[in-house]
Amino acid sequence: MKNINLISLGCAKNLVDSEILLGGLKKSNFNIVDNSKNADIVIVNTCGFLDSARDESVDVILEAGELRSKGEIKQLVVMGCFSERYDNDLKREIPEVDAFFGTSDHAKIISFLTGEEYVKSDPDYFRSLLTPKHYAYLKIAEGCDNGCSFCSIPLMRGLQISRSIEANVEEARRLGKQGVKEILVIGQDTTSYGWDLKPKATLHELMDELNKIDEIDWIRLHYAHPAHLHREMIVRFGKLEKLLPYIDMPIQHASTKLLKSMRRGLGKDGILKRIEALRNACPNIILRTSIIVGYPGETEEDFLELYDFIKKVRFDRLGVFTYSEEEGTFAEKQLIDNVPQQVKYDRMDKIMTIQQEISYENNQQLIGTTQKIIIDQHLDSNESIGRSFRDSPEVDNIFRIDGLHPVGEFINAKVISASEYEIICTKD
Ligand code: SF4
Repeated sequence: MKNINLISLGCAKNLVDSEILLGGLKKSNFNIVDNSKNADIVIVNTCGFLDSARDESVDVILEAGELRSKGEIKQLVVMGCFSERYDNDLKREIPEVDAFFGTSDHAKIISFLTGEEYVKSDPDYFRSLLTPKHYAYLKIAEGCDNGCSFCSIPLMRGLQISRSIEANVEEARRLGKQGVKEILVIGQDTTSYGWDLKPKATLHELMDELNKIDEIDWIRLHYAHPAHLHREMIVRFGKLEKLLPYIDMPIQHASTKLLKSMRRGLGKDGILKRIEALRNACPNIILRTSIIVGYPGETEEDFLELYDFIKKVRFDRLGVFTYSEEEGTFAEKQLIDNVPQQVKYDRMDKIMTIQQEISYENNQQLIGTTQKIIIDQHLDSNESIGRSFRDSPEVDNIFRIDGLHPVGEFINAKVISASEYEIICTKD
């Protein structure tokens, strides 16, 4: 039996691809190991979105390439967005790689490694989770129909292909039976879910069905495009018992001028209306967003508009990216990347500073309250790490609770102190 090490880089969508491939590999009698030094074969699932992710992908491939040229591993396979888009360049630059594949070439990779044709009609069936057993990502659609000016994802992942409601529900049910309690709904643009299906389906219909799955306790919505957020979906936040009052809704900017250039389909007032509607439907909803600073043509005035917007809206969670040109996008071809790098960094710091203050103030208000926490892991310091409904794994705040409580279980914990990103508790 051959040992395979799979290194998954990038976002949760890539992680799901890795999990599907791992499931197929296990079924094909490969042994999965977590270190490339013990492996016969290394697979790198690359990310090609943004310079930093591409650099990381190249570093990881080069490191594995060294093992391959020394004969310490027998095969090196590269897959994912970066490989799909730049395979010719990579072939030329890194000849140690045996084969390059795209994002959804699971069957082809297994056929390549086994030398036999691998045909599986439902690759999700064997999916092997890389997350802790109690939560899993549910990728409800692949690809994206939007042409946001700065984004190369549609060039790498293609147009949107939604999975049917039945397929998504079946997978969520299967995950629930395996012990998953929290489902994190992802896609490139989840609020556009189902437009491409025949007959059409909607995100709120899917949520209604997911809400009926007994084994699942929490459903969390990510990557909601504000322009496609339907009022029927908004009201679900106040109504569906398992749908957490949490939404990850990237707004990208707050200047209508820049939003128009970004081709986001919604200006500042439209975004504000969505936020108001969400808060009216569900007053305790947690809003997560992400923004880009230093987009071509962003003046000091545009930036101040964004800064004031962030101060006014007080998002609960916020990520900031500095703009970088993505090959083949509208912005790269038609606009000039004219904001100096240092100005981009300064703007990012200003936003992060205000966001830290907001986060600190919000967390201080939790002191003395009791929170329902799901336990994610244990620390050597005899503490457990967990999350409340306010926090998605990997990207949001953590709760530290004294004592080792069962991983994957819910406990009630009393908050005793809090900083910007960490909340300290004792079991209630
Ligand atoms: S919605 Fe826009 S930013 Fe998001 S993946 Fe699609 S094109 Fe990219």
